[in-house]
Amino acid sequence: MFKNWQSITLWKRVLIGLFIGIAFGLALHYGLPEATFADEDGIETTWSGKERATWIGNTWIQPFGEAFVRLIKMLIVPLIATTLVAGVTAMGDPKKLGSLGVKTIALYLTTTLFAVSLGLTVGTIIKPGIGVEYGASAENLETVKGKLDTAKDVTFTDRMLEIIPDSPVAAWADGAVLPTIFFSILLGIGILFCGKSAEPIKIFFDSAVEVVMRITMLIMELAPFGVCALMAWVMATKGIEILNNLMWLALALYLTCVLHIVFVYGGIIVRGILRLPMKQFFRGILDAQGVAFSTASSSATLPISISCAEKNLGVDKSVAGSVLPLGATINMDGTAIYLGLVALFAAQAAGLEVTFTQYLMVALTATLVSIGAAGIPSAGLLLAATVLDVVGISESQSLLVIAFIFPFDRLLDMMRTVTNVSGDIAVACAVAKWEGELNEDVFRHEAEL
Ligand code: ASP
Repeated sequence: MFKNWQSITLWKRVLIGLFIGIAFGLALHYGLPEATFADEDGIETTWSGKERATWIGNTWIQPFGEAFVRLIKMLIVPLIATTLVAGVTAMGDPKKLGSLGVKTIALYLTTTLFAVSLGLTVGTIIKPGIGVEYGASAENLETVKGKLDTAKDVTFTDRMLEIIPDSPVAAWADGAVLPTIFFSILLGIGILFCGKSAEPIKIFFDSAVEVVMRITMLIMELAPFGVCALMAWVMATKGIEILNNLMWLALALYLTCVLHIVFVYGGIIVRGILRLPMKQFFRGILDAQGVAFSTASSSATLPISISCAEKNLGVDKSVAGSVLPLGATINMDGTAIYLGLVALFAAQAAGLEVTFTQYLMVALTATLVSIGAAGIPSAGLLLAATVLDVVGISESQSLLVIAFIFPFDRLLDMMRTVTNVSGDIAVACAVAKWEGELNEDVFRHEAEL
Protein backbone atom coordinates (compact mmCIF):
# COMPACT_ATOMS: atom_id res chain seq x y z
CA MET A 1 0.00 0.00 0.00
CA PHE A 2 2.79 2.39 1.05
CA LYS A 3 4.73 1.51 -2.08
CA ASN A 4 1.69 2.10 -4.27
CA TRP A 5 1.08 5.47 -2.65
CA GLN A 6 4.66 6.54 -3.31
CA SER A 7 4.39 5.52 -6.93
CA ILE A 8 1.55 7.98 -7.59
CA THR A 9 2.86 11.31 -8.97
CA LEU A 10 3.09 13.95 -6.27
CA TRP A 11 0.59 16.40 -7.76
CA LYS A 12 -1.99 13.64 -7.86
CA ARG A 13 -1.33 12.76 -4.24
CA VAL A 14 -1.71 16.44 -3.31
CA LEU A 15 -5.07 16.57 -5.10
CA ILE A 16 -6.20 13.36 -3.40
CA GLY A 17 -5.25 14.89 -0.03
CA LEU A 18 -7.11 18.07 -0.90
CA PHE A 19 -10.35 16.33 -1.82
CA ILE A 20 -10.27 13.91 1.12
CA GLY A 21 -9.66 16.89 3.42
CA ILE A 22 -12.59 18.84 1.97
CA ALA A 23 -14.93 15.85 2.17
CA PHE A 24 -13.91 14.93 5.70
CA GLY A 25 -14.14 18.52 6.96
CA LEU A 26 -17.56 19.07 5.41
CA ALA A 27 -18.79 15.75 6.81
CA LEU A 28 -17.77 16.92 10.28
CA HIS A 29 -19.24 20.41 9.86
CA TYR A 30 -22.60 19.30 8.57
CA GLY A 31 -22.83 15.72 9.82
CA LEU A 32 -22.12 15.84 13.55
CA PRO A 33 -25.21 15.68 15.76
CA GLU A 34 -25.83 17.93 18.76
CA ALA A 35 -24.42 16.50 22.01
CA THR A 36 -24.65 17.26 25.70
CA PHE A 37 -21.62 17.01 27.96
CA ALA A 38 -21.41 17.21 31.72
CA ASP A 39 -18.36 18.74 33.46
CA GLU A 40 -16.87 17.49 36.77
CA ASP A 41 -19.60 19.26 38.76
CA GLY A 42 -22.30 17.61 36.69
CA ILE A 43 -23.24 20.85 34.89
CA GLU A 44 -24.48 20.00 31.45
CA THR A 45 -23.71 21.97 28.29
CA THR A 46 -25.19 21.29 24.91
CA TRP A 47 -22.98 21.72 21.88
CA SER A 48 -24.39 22.04 18.41
CA GLY A 49 -22.92 19.84 15.66
CA LYS A 50 -21.08 22.85 14.19
CA GLU A 51 -19.60 23.84 17.55
CA ARG A 52 -18.33 20.31 17.99
CA ALA A 53 -16.87 20.29 14.49
CA THR A 54 -15.10 23.59 15.20
CA TRP A 55 -13.67 22.21 18.42
CA ILE A 56 -12.47 19.02 16.77
CA GLY A 57 -11.03 21.01 13.87
CA ASN A 58 -9.13 23.44 16.06
CA THR A 59 -7.95 20.89 18.61
CA TRP A 60 -7.22 17.78 16.61
CA ILE A 61 -6.81 18.68 12.97
CA GLN A 62 -5.31 22.16 12.79
CA PRO A 63 -2.04 21.24 14.59
CA PHE A 64 -1.17 18.72 11.84
CA GLY A 65 -1.76 21.37 9.19
CA GLU A 66 0.20 23.91 11.19
CA ALA A 67 3.11 21.47 11.51
CA PHE A 68 3.26 21.19 7.73
CA VAL A 69 3.09 24.96 7.28
CA ARG A 70 5.93 25.38 9.77
CA LEU A 71 8.03 22.78 8.02
CA ILE A 72 7.83 24.64 4.74
CA LYS A 73 8.14 28.08 6.33
CA MET A 74 11.32 26.85 8.00
CA LEU A 75 12.83 26.48 4.53
CA ILE A 76 12.06 29.96 3.22
CA VAL A 77 15.14 31.77 4.51
CA PRO A 78 17.66 28.98 3.84
CA LEU A 79 16.21 28.55 0.38
CA ILE A 80 16.31 32.22 -0.59
CA ALA A 81 19.70 32.80 0.98
CA THR A 82 21.32 29.90 -0.82
CA THR A 83 19.54 29.95 -4.21
CA LEU A 84 19.92 33.66 -4.63
CA VAL A 85 23.62 33.77 -3.79
CA ALA A 86 24.31 30.76 -6.01
CA GLY A 87 22.07 32.27 -8.70
CA VAL A 88 23.84 35.63 -8.74
CA THR A 89 27.27 34.02 -8.82
CA ALA A 90 26.10 31.71 -11.62
CA MET A 91 25.05 34.74 -13.69
CA GLY A 92 28.66 35.80 -13.78
CA ASP A 93 27.83 39.45 -14.45
CA PRO A 94 26.06 41.80 -12.02
CA LYS A 95 24.67 43.80 -14.96
CA LYS A 96 22.49 40.83 -15.88
CA LEU A 97 20.82 41.26 -12.52
CA GLY A 98 19.62 44.74 -13.52
CA SER A 99 18.00 43.54 -16.73
CA LEU A 100 16.42 40.62 -14.90
CA GLY A 101 15.06 42.95 -12.22
CA VAL A 102 13.56 45.40 -14.69
CA LYS A 103 11.87 42.67 -16.74
CA THR A 104 10.53 40.98 -13.62
CA ILE A 105 9.03 44.09 -12.07
CA ALA A 106 7.59 45.29 -15.40
CA LEU A 107 5.88 41.96 -16.00
CA TYR A 108 4.60 41.71 -12.44
CA LEU A 109 3.03 45.16 -12.72
CA THR A 110 1.51 44.48 -16.13
CA THR A 111 -0.13 41.22 -15.06
CA THR A 112 -1.51 42.89 -11.94
CA LEU A 113 -3.07 45.72 -13.94
CA PHE A 114 -4.63 43.14 -16.26
CA ALA A 115 -5.91 41.23 -13.24
CA VAL A 116 -7.61 44.14 -11.56
CA SER A 117 -9.18 45.29 -14.84
CA LEU A 118 -10.57 41.81 -15.39
CA GLY A 119 -11.88 41.78 -11.80
CA LEU A 120 -13.60 45.12 -12.27
CA THR A 121 -15.18 43.96 -15.53
CA VAL A 122 -16.53 40.75 -14.00
CA GLY A 123 -17.68 42.68 -10.91
CA THR A 124 -19.59 45.12 -13.10
CA ILE A 125 -21.30 42.31 -14.97
CA ILE A 126 -22.06 39.98 -12.04
CA LYS A 127 -22.79 42.78 -9.52
CA PRO A 128 -21.95 40.75 -6.38
CA GLY A 129 -23.08 43.46 -3.94
CA ILE A 130 -26.61 44.12 -5.16
CA GLY A 131 -29.16 43.44 -2.43
CA VAL A 132 -26.60 42.45 0.18
CA GLU A 133 -27.30 43.67 3.69
CA TYR A 134 -24.18 43.56 5.70
CA GLY A 135 -23.83 43.47 9.40
CA ALA A 136 -21.14 42.06 11.63
CA SER A 137 -21.01 40.71 15.14
CA ALA A 138 -19.43 42.95 17.78
CA GLU A 139 -16.75 40.33 18.29
CA ASN A 140 -15.73 40.35 14.62
CA LEU A 141 -15.79 44.14 14.57
CA GLU A 142 -13.37 44.24 17.52
CA THR A 143 -11.02 41.67 15.99
CA VAL A 144 -10.90 43.45 12.65
CA LYS A 145 -10.44 46.86 14.29
CA GLY A 146 -7.47 45.56 16.26
CA LYS A 147 -5.85 44.06 13.16
CA LEU A 148 -6.46 47.20 11.11
CA ASP A 149 -4.95 49.44 13.78
CA THR A 150 -1.73 47.44 13.84
CA ALA A 151 -1.54 47.44 10.04
CA LYS A 152 -2.12 51.20 9.86
CA ASP A 153 0.92 52.04 11.96
CA VAL A 154 3.33 50.97 9.23
CA THR A 155 4.06 53.76 6.74
CA PHE A 156 5.37 53.43 3.20
CA THR A 157 8.79 54.77 4.22
CA ASP A 158 8.95 52.19 7.02
CA ARG A 159 8.30 49.47 4.49
CA MET A 160 10.98 50.73 2.12
CA LEU A 161 13.51 50.99 4.93
CA GLU A 162 12.70 47.48 6.10
CA ILE A 163 14.29 46.17 2.90
CA ILE A 164 17.69 47.04 4.36
CA PRO A 165 18.14 44.80 7.39
CA ASP A 166 19.71 46.01 10.63
CA SER A 167 21.69 42.85 10.42
CA PRO A 168 21.29 39.91 8.04
CA VAL A 169 21.04 37.57 10.99
CA ALA A 170 18.08 39.54 12.36
CA ALA A 171 16.37 39.32 8.97
CA TRP A 172 16.93 35.58 8.85
CA ALA A 173 15.69 35.18 12.42
CA ASP A 174 12.49 37.08 11.58
CA GLY A 175 12.01 35.16 8.34
CA ALA A 176 11.86 38.55 6.58
CA VAL A 177 11.87 37.90 2.84
CA LEU A 178 12.79 41.25 1.24
CA PRO A 179 15.78 42.02 3.52
CA THR A 180 17.01 38.46 2.98
CA ILE A 181 16.76 38.93 -0.79
CA PHE A 182 18.60 42.25 -0.50
CA PHE A 183 21.46 40.86 1.52
CA SER A 184 21.78 37.70 -0.59
CA ILE A 185 22.04 39.69 -3.81
CA LEU A 186 24.77 41.85 -2.27
CA LEU A 187 26.60 38.78 -1.03
CA GLY A 188 26.41 37.24 -4.50
CA ILE A 189 27.72 40.43 -6.08
CA GLY A 190 30.52 40.58 -3.49
CA ILE A 191 31.55 37.02 -4.36
CA LEU A 192 31.49 37.85 -8.07
CA PHE A 193 33.68 40.91 -7.60
CA CYS A 194 36.22 38.97 -5.54
CA GLY A 195 36.66 36.43 -8.30
CA LYS A 196 39.12 33.67 -7.59
CA SER A 197 39.69 34.43 -3.94
CA ALA A 198 35.97 33.87 -3.21
CA GLU A 199 35.82 30.56 -5.09
CA PRO A 200 35.43 28.46 -1.87
CA ILE A 201 32.37 30.48 -0.79
CA LYS A 202 30.86 30.10 -4.25
CA ILE A 203 31.34 26.34 -4.09
CA PHE A 204 29.87 26.31 -0.59
CA PHE A 205 26.68 28.03 -1.75
CA ASP A 206 26.39 25.84 -4.84
CA SER A 207 26.36 22.73 -2.73
CA ALA A 208 24.19 24.31 0.00
CA VAL A 209 21.48 24.89 -2.64
CA GLU A 210 21.51 21.19 -3.46
CA VAL A 211 21.13 20.28 0.19
CA VAL A 212 18.25 22.69 0.86
CA MET A 213 16.46 21.58 -2.31
CA ARG A 214 16.80 17.97 -1.19
CA ILE A 215 15.20 18.85 2.16
CA THR A 216 12.40 20.65 0.30
CA MET A 217 11.70 17.52 -1.75
CA LEU A 218 11.59 15.46 1.43
CA ILE A 219 9.12 17.81 3.09
CA MET A 220 7.04 17.88 -0.08
CA GLU A 221 6.39 14.18 0.44
CA LEU A 222 4.30 15.29 3.41
CA ALA A 223 2.32 17.78 1.33
CA PRO A 224 -0.65 15.47 0.61
CA PHE A 225 -1.15 14.95 4.36
CA GLY A 226 -0.53 18.59 5.27
CA VAL A 227 -2.92 19.79 2.59
CA CYS A 228 -5.51 17.24 3.71
CA ALA A 229 -5.30 18.41 7.34
CA LEU A 230 -5.50 22.10 6.39
CA MET A 231 -8.53 21.59 4.17
CA ALA A 232 -10.27 19.39 6.73
CA TRP A 233 -9.65 22.07 9.38
CA VAL A 234 -10.97 24.94 7.24
CA MET A 235 -14.06 23.01 6.17
CA ALA A 236 -14.79 21.58 9.64
CA THR A 237 -14.61 25.00 11.29
CA LYS A 238 -16.10 27.18 8.57
CA GLY A 239 -18.09 24.93 6.24
CA ILE A 240 -19.28 26.67 3.10
CA GLU A 241 -21.64 29.12 4.76
CA ILE A 242 -20.15 31.76 2.51
CA LEU A 243 -22.91 30.73 0.16
CA ASN A 244 -25.46 32.75 2.11
CA ASN A 245 -24.44 36.36 1.57
CA LEU A 246 -21.14 36.33 -0.15
CA MET A 247 -22.00 33.78 -2.79
CA TRP A 248 -21.87 36.25 -5.67
CA LEU A 249 -18.64 37.78 -4.42
CA ALA A 250 -17.10 34.32 -4.15
CA LEU A 251 -18.38 33.39 -7.57
CA ALA A 252 -17.05 36.57 -9.16
CA LEU A 253 -13.66 36.06 -7.49
CA TYR A 254 -13.30 32.39 -8.42
CA LEU A 255 -14.43 33.07 -11.98
CA THR A 256 -12.06 36.01 -12.50
CA CYS A 257 -9.14 34.13 -10.97
CA VAL A 258 -9.73 31.10 -13.19
CA LEU A 259 -10.07 33.32 -16.28
CA HIS A 260 -6.90 35.20 -15.36
CA ILE A 261 -4.91 32.03 -14.71
CA VAL A 262 -6.05 30.32 -17.90
CA PHE A 263 -6.05 33.25 -20.34
CA VAL A 264 -3.39 35.60 -19.05
CA TYR A 265 -0.83 33.14 -17.64
CA GLY A 266 -1.61 30.13 -19.80
CA GLY A 267 -2.86 31.76 -23.00
CA ILE A 268 -0.99 35.05 -23.25
CA ILE A 269 2.27 34.42 -21.37
CA VAL A 270 2.98 30.72 -21.81
CA ARG A 271 1.30 29.98 -25.15
CA GLY A 272 1.32 33.39 -26.85
CA ILE A 273 4.59 35.01 -25.76
CA LEU A 274 6.74 32.04 -24.84
CA ARG A 275 5.34 29.62 -27.44
CA LEU A 276 5.35 26.80 -24.91
CA PRO A 277 2.66 24.20 -24.18
CA MET A 278 0.05 25.28 -21.62
CA LYS A 279 -0.67 21.74 -20.46
CA GLN A 280 2.84 21.16 -19.19
CA PHE A 281 2.83 24.51 -17.46
CA PHE A 282 -0.37 23.80 -15.57
CA ARG A 283 0.66 20.30 -14.67
CA GLY A 284 4.04 21.55 -13.51
CA ILE A 285 2.55 24.05 -11.07
CA LEU A 286 -0.18 21.87 -9.57
CA ASP A 287 1.79 21.03 -6.40
CA ALA A 288 2.34 24.71 -5.73
CA GLN A 289 -1.32 25.50 -6.43
CA GLY A 290 -2.46 22.76 -4.04
CA VAL A 291 -0.24 24.07 -1.27
CA ALA A 292 -1.26 27.67 -1.99
CA PHE A 293 -4.94 26.76 -1.85
CA SER A 294 -4.65 24.99 1.47
CA THR A 295 -2.23 27.36 3.24
CA ALA A 296 -3.62 30.65 1.83
CA SER A 297 -0.09 32.02 1.99
CA SER A 298 2.21 32.76 -0.94
CA SER A 299 5.16 33.08 1.42
CA ALA A 300 4.59 29.64 2.89
CA THR A 301 4.23 28.23 -0.64
CA LEU A 302 7.50 29.78 -1.80
CA PRO A 303 9.74 26.72 -1.35
CA ILE A 304 7.28 24.62 -3.35
CA SER A 305 7.01 27.27 -6.08
CA ILE A 306 10.80 27.33 -6.42
CA SER A 307 10.96 23.57 -6.57
CA CYS A 308 8.12 23.35 -9.19
CA ALA A 309 9.71 26.05 -11.35
CA GLU A 310 13.13 24.43 -11.30
CA LYS A 311 12.29 20.74 -11.38
CA ASN A 312 9.12 20.66 -13.47
CA LEU A 313 9.50 23.68 -15.72
CA GLY A 314 13.25 23.96 -16.21
CA VAL A 315 13.64 27.50 -14.83
CA ASP A 316 17.29 28.02 -13.90
CA LYS A 317 17.99 28.54 -10.21
CA SER A 318 19.40 32.01 -10.84
CA VAL A 319 15.95 33.10 -12.05
CA ALA A 320 13.74 30.95 -9.81
CA GLY A 321 15.72 31.96 -6.75
CA SER A 322 15.33 35.67 -7.40
CA VAL A 323 12.09 36.16 -9.33
CA LEU A 324 9.94 33.91 -7.14
CA PRO A 325 10.83 35.30 -3.68
CA LEU A 326 10.24 38.78 -5.06
CA GLY A 327 6.95 37.65 -6.55
CA ALA A 328 5.81 36.07 -3.28
CA THR A 329 6.15 39.47 -1.65
CA ILE A 330 5.14 41.95 -4.35
CA ASN A 331 3.16 40.15 -7.05
CA MET A 332 -0.42 39.57 -5.95
CA ASP A 333 -2.76 39.40 -8.90
CA GLY A 334 -5.41 37.45 -7.00
CA THR A 335 -5.31 40.05 -4.22
CA ALA A 336 -5.66 42.88 -6.76
CA ILE A 337 -8.67 41.16 -8.37
CA TYR A 338 -10.17 40.75 -4.92
CA LEU A 339 -9.62 44.36 -3.89
CA GLY A 340 -11.31 45.58 -7.07
CA LEU A 341 -14.23 43.26 -6.48
CA VAL A 342 -14.61 44.24 -2.81
CA ALA A 343 -14.72 47.91 -3.79
CA LEU A 344 -17.52 47.23 -6.28
CA PHE A 345 -19.25 44.88 -3.85
CA ALA A 346 -19.41 47.52 -1.11
CA ALA A 347 -20.44 50.31 -3.48
CA GLN A 348 -23.21 48.17 -4.97
CA ALA A 349 -24.46 47.11 -1.54
CA ALA A 350 -24.54 50.74 -0.43
CA GLY A 351 -26.27 51.80 -3.67
CA LEU A 352 -23.39 54.08 -4.70
CA GLU A 353 -22.70 54.88 -8.34
CA VAL A 354 -19.09 54.21 -9.34
CA THR A 355 -17.75 56.74 -11.86
CA PHE A 356 -15.20 56.00 -14.57
CA THR A 357 -12.52 57.97 -12.71
CA GLN A 358 -13.24 55.93 -9.60
CA TYR A 359 -12.81 52.74 -11.63
CA LEU A 360 -9.39 53.94 -12.73
CA MET A 361 -8.47 54.96 -9.20
CA VAL A 362 -9.59 51.60 -7.81
CA ALA A 363 -7.46 49.80 -10.44
CA LEU A 364 -4.43 51.90 -9.58
CA THR A 365 -4.91 51.70 -5.82
CA ALA A 366 -5.56 47.95 -5.89
CA THR A 367 -2.38 47.41 -7.91
CA LEU A 368 -0.27 49.49 -5.52
CA VAL A 369 -1.85 48.07 -2.38
CA SER A 370 -1.42 44.50 -3.60
CA ILE A 371 2.32 45.16 -3.95
CA GLY A 372 2.47 46.08 -0.29
CA ALA A 373 0.36 43.11 0.85
CA ALA A 374 2.26 40.43 2.73
CA GLY A 375 1.99 36.87 1.46
CA ILE A 376 0.10 35.68 4.51
CA PRO A 377 -3.53 34.70 5.16
CA SER A 378 -6.06 37.56 5.13
CA ALA A 379 -3.48 40.22 4.23
CA GLY A 380 -5.62 41.32 1.29
CA LEU A 381 -8.81 41.83 3.27
CA LEU A 382 -7.10 44.01 5.86
CA LEU A 383 -5.95 46.33 3.08
CA ALA A 384 -9.42 46.72 1.61
CA ALA A 385 -10.09 50.01 3.43
CA THR A 386 -7.94 51.89 0.88
CA VAL A 387 -10.05 50.86 -2.12
CA LEU A 388 -13.29 51.27 -0.20
CA ASP A 389 -12.27 54.85 0.45
CA VAL A 390 -11.87 55.42 -3.31
CA VAL A 391 -15.50 54.47 -4.03
CA GLY A 392 -16.76 56.73 -1.25
CA ILE A 393 -17.33 54.32 1.63
CA SER A 394 -16.73 56.03 4.97
CA GLU A 395 -14.17 54.71 7.44
CA SER A 396 -16.78 53.35 9.84
CA GLN A 397 -18.72 51.72 7.02
CA SER A 398 -15.61 50.11 5.61
CA LEU A 399 -14.83 48.63 9.01
CA LEU A 400 -18.26 47.05 8.87
CA VAL A 401 -17.72 45.67 5.37
CA ILE A 402 -14.37 44.17 6.33
CA ALA A 403 -15.77 42.65 9.52
CA PHE A 404 -18.67 41.24 7.50
CA ILE A 405 -16.37 39.45 5.05
CA PHE A 406 -13.75 38.49 7.66
CA PRO A 407 -15.28 35.21 8.95
CA PHE A 408 -15.54 33.81 5.43
CA ASP A 409 -12.41 35.32 4.00
CA ARG A 410 -10.42 32.11 4.12
CA LEU A 411 -12.40 30.55 1.26
CA LEU A 412 -11.74 33.64 -0.85
CA ASP A 413 -8.14 33.89 0.29
CA MET A 414 -7.40 30.35 -0.87
CA MET A 415 -8.29 31.21 -4.46
CA ARG A 416 -6.46 34.52 -4.58
CA THR A 417 -3.35 32.84 -3.21
CA VAL A 418 -3.52 30.19 -5.97
CA THR A 419 -3.66 33.06 -8.47
CA ASN A 420 -0.80 34.94 -6.80
CA VAL A 421 1.44 31.89 -6.83
CA SER A 422 0.53 30.86 -10.40
CA GLY A 423 1.38 34.39 -11.56
CA ASP A 424 4.77 34.30 -9.84
CA ILE A 425 5.69 31.09 -11.63
CA ALA A 426 4.38 32.23 -15.03
CA VAL A 427 6.49 35.40 -14.78
CA ALA A 428 9.51 33.36 -13.67
CA CYS A 429 9.15 31.21 -16.82
CA ALA A 430 8.90 34.29 -19.03
CA VAL A 431 11.92 36.02 -17.48
CA ALA A 432 13.90 32.78 -17.62
CA LYS A 433 13.16 32.38 -21.32
CA TRP A 434 14.13 35.99 -22.13
CA GLU A 435 17.35 35.62 -20.18
CA GLY A 436 18.18 32.32 -21.91
CA GLU A 437 17.82 30.50 -18.59
CA LEU A 438 14.89 28.20 -19.40
CA ASN A 439 15.54 24.57 -20.15
CA GLU A 440 12.73 23.94 -22.61
CA ASP A 441 13.36 20.21 -22.71
CA VAL A 442 12.46 20.01 -19.04
CA PHE A 443 9.45 22.29 -19.58
CA ARG A 444 8.13 20.31 -22.52
CA HIS A 445 8.82 16.99 -20.89
CA GLU A 446 5.54 15.11 -20.82
CA ALA A 447 4.91 14.83 -17.09
CA GLU A 448 3.94 11.39 -15.86
CA LEU A 449 0.24 10.84 -15.75
N1 ASP B 1 -3.11 35.33 1.32
C1 ASP B 1 -2.64 35.99 0.14
C2 ASP B 1 -1.27 35.47 -0.22
O1 ASP B 1 -0.56 35.01 0.61
C3 ASP B 1 -2.62 37.47 0.29
C4 ASP B 1 -4.03 37.97 0.44
O2 ASP B 1 -4.57 37.93 1.54
O3 ASP B 1 -4.63 38.38 -0.56
O4 ASP B 1 -0.86 35.52 -1.35
